[in-house]
Amino acid sequence: MKQALLLALLSLTLWADAHIFVYHRFGDEKHASTNTSLAILKEQFEFFKQHDYKVISLQTLSRALKNTEKIPDNWVVLCIDDSYKSFFDNALPLFKEYDYPFALFVYIEATDRGYGDFMSWPQIREASRYGEIGLHSYAHKHMVSMSADAIKEDTIKGKNSFVKELGYAPKYYAYPYGEFDTKVKKAISSFGFDLILNQNVGAVSHKSPQNDLDRIALTGDVPLKPKLRIKYLDALWHWPKSYPVNGKLNKIHVTMPPSISRAELYISGGEWEYITVKEGEFKREQPYPLTKRRTRVIIKSGNAYTSKIIVKE
Ligand SMILES: [Zn+2]
Repeated sequence: MKQALLLALLSLTLWADAHIFVYHRFGDEKHASTNTSLAILKEQFEFFKQHDYKVISLQTLSRALKNTEKIPDNWVVLCIDDSYKSFFDNALPLFKEYDYPFALFVYIEATDRGYGDFMSWPQIREASRYGEIGLHSYAHKHMVSMSADAIKEDTIKGKNSFVKELGYAPKYYAYPYGEFDTKVKKAISSFGFDLILNQNVGAVSHKSPQNDLDRIALTGDVPLKPKLRIKYLDALWHWPKSYPVNGKLNKIHVTMPPSISRAELYISGGEWEYITVKEGEFKREQPYPLTKRRTRVIIKSGNAYTSKIIVKE
């Protein structure tokens, strides 16, 4: 009995909602900031295997979200952005060895034009036998600076090439650089993708919006365990909506479950600070000068995270 209780407690700390991770390059030391070494990848795969994590496809996750089923705590989705050759050459054999599915998000223009560092269409077709393929835009631009029409044009171009080469329409979309705002989200959502994925820190629960799924970056030698403890924080961001024109973040307003009274706040360039939440509402009005082009505002309560990205046009 005692043992069962201990196990239950242990699983509570180990498991916390589903997680979507995103990788870029593999075994490619020249690009340290976006690289995952094969030794680390293998360590992570072993960890998933030893600790009963289930690596699932986006389709499985998508179906569960659509039916608002409870999302198992041990589900993990592995994404790879940009379709670099190093995935095909170095990591795909390991995915095959462990029989782990993946979702590869293709930067279409790079493949269409045969840019040296990127996979070819035959390689993408070969990879699609073992995982899913999604769209990562045509030209991989900073879309916050583009008009809604230009964003749609880019997406149509990407979709057309995708359909021509793979024979089906993409169901999943990941924002280039993880950058988006209301305009970008609206433009991409109009295409009716099953899932749209960002690159904000957070987990996935049955409450997660299908057109705004959080993904945790896994590059370099990052500790995996704390990332797997992250939980989904069901929050509504009223403010900020976008990057402030004067470069000062004047207001933060977020509502979350009423049981939350204390949380921590982080703004890119600053440090974590404790904040008081009143019956699930956090509101602060004071000018905060932003120093980065791309700013993340993150709130966490215990292990539950919610975040917002705001990007200068
Ligand atoms: Zn990318």
